[in-house]
Amino acid sequence: MPEKKSESKAEKLRYQKKTVYEKAGEKIVREAYDYANGYVNFLNAAKTEREAVAESIRIAEAAGYRAWKFGNPMKVGDKLYYNNRGKNLFLFRIGSEPIDNGIRITGAHIDSPRLDLKQNPLYEDHDLCFLKTHYYGGIRKYQWLAMPLALHGVVVKQSGETVKIVIGENETDPVMYITDLLPHLAQNEVTKTVTQAFQGEKLNILAGSRPLEGAEKDAVKLGVLTYLYDAYGITEEDFQSAELSLVPAGRARDVGFDRSMICGYGHDDRCCAYPSLTAMIDADESLHTTMCTLVDKEETGSDGVTGAQSSITVDLIGEIARALGGNVAAVRANSKCLSSDVAAIYDPNFADVFEERNAAMLGCGVAMCKFTGARGKSGTSDASAELVAWVRRCLNEAGVVWQTCELGKVDLGGGGTIAKYMANQNIDTIDLGVGVLSMHAPFEVISKVDLYESYRAFRAFYRFRAE
Ligand code: MN
Ligand code: MN
Repeated sequence: MPEKKSESKAEKLRYQKKTVYEKAGEKIVREAYDYANGYVNFLNAAKTEREAVAESIRIAEAAGYRAWKFGNPMKVGDKLYYNNRGKNLFLFRIGSEPIDNGIRITGAHIDSPRLDLKQNPLYEDHDLCFLKTHYYGGIRKYQWLAMPLALHGVVVKQSGETVKIVIGENETDPVMYITDLLPHLAQNEVTKTVTQAFQGEKLNILAGSRPLEGAEKDAVKLGVLTYLYDAYGITEEDFQSAELSLVPAGRARDVGFDRSMICGYGHDDRCCAYPSLTAMIDADESLHTTMCTLVDKEETGSDGVTGAQSSITVDLIGEIARALGGNVAAVRANSKCLSSDVAAIYDPNFADVFEERNAAMLGCGVAMCKFTGARGKSGTSDASAELVAWVRRCLNEAGVVWQTCELGKVDLGGGGTIAKYMANQNIDTIDLGVGVLSMHAPFEVISKVDLYESYRAFRAFYRFRAE
């Protein structure tokens, strides 16, 4: 039939983005829904980078990974993890092929936007006790008002003893809260710009209102301090050596009548961290040496000892190379990295900030981003066409549904990932991850099929041999 023939020619010539539902079919969709259950458990257990490291170690140990320290030996077949200060984790598995062929690396971050307590947080004002905060990462401040918040983190006492705190996640726990202005008195407020109306210094946490009996001054604050001492043995000075964060209270939930999506805190970037971790564990038979790195501090620029710019990554790769008799420079030159971070999903409600021909679409699979950066590709490592072609082949041969994407319109904002820090170490790197709606909001939304395609993409990447 001539008509059908021309159709197939058009199909061959034309690239058309399709959804996972159209391309992969019912079986994959069912698997995606199942996979999402494990992910939701991970999200609920891992709201901070410290919790994400602990939960990842639990999963890795159950899969036979053991703790490793610098100086320890390693050999082919070993499944090891390196815990960097409880906030950054490396899983690596020594493959049977020569180490000079390079390492297959995925890198996701496990820190998320939130409100951190200041070092001197506690004060009383008009018989109300508050905690001062300094927000972490890029937030739209108004989104964090008038909602239940949970306190997560650690207090490290002078003695070195660490007190772990999680308040607000159990149904019977109290939560923390930031007040907002009532509409009846907001006439002047609503004419301000969002930046003027919502200021960082006003994100103060309501933490108590009952005075300590018999106290003369700051009685409510003393009441809170008494509670903290009785419950945790901590004093006001202990806040100085604490890392306490406010995150949205509550669990991740399915979204939509069809349960096709998940809303939860910290999809960025746990929706890439969990697939990286589980794909690494499930790509056990790969001949390559494989590595999964879960980094901290991405949301503030990847600086510091636990961030992607720390020399820890190259120190570890160097140690692996030497232990296996390889050449460190060759290992790096021949390694490949998928920087697994989230993409911004096209939102019809805010259509004007996206360029729809190059935006990531919900349900269209894992999103590959050749370059990030802002206005004129500033600050991007820009993956090579050769690397993109290699990844295309890897994903297509494995039947993974994928799409390419760019973050918003050219002259609008932009953003960065850890890709450039890996690439700067002479490791071929490209961004590949899950698309997110309402990115950086207290509760973000992702698609279950996109999540699962990212897992399938990472698994294919760990195994792929292009000879
Ligand atoms: Mn991210
Ligand atoms: Mn982010």
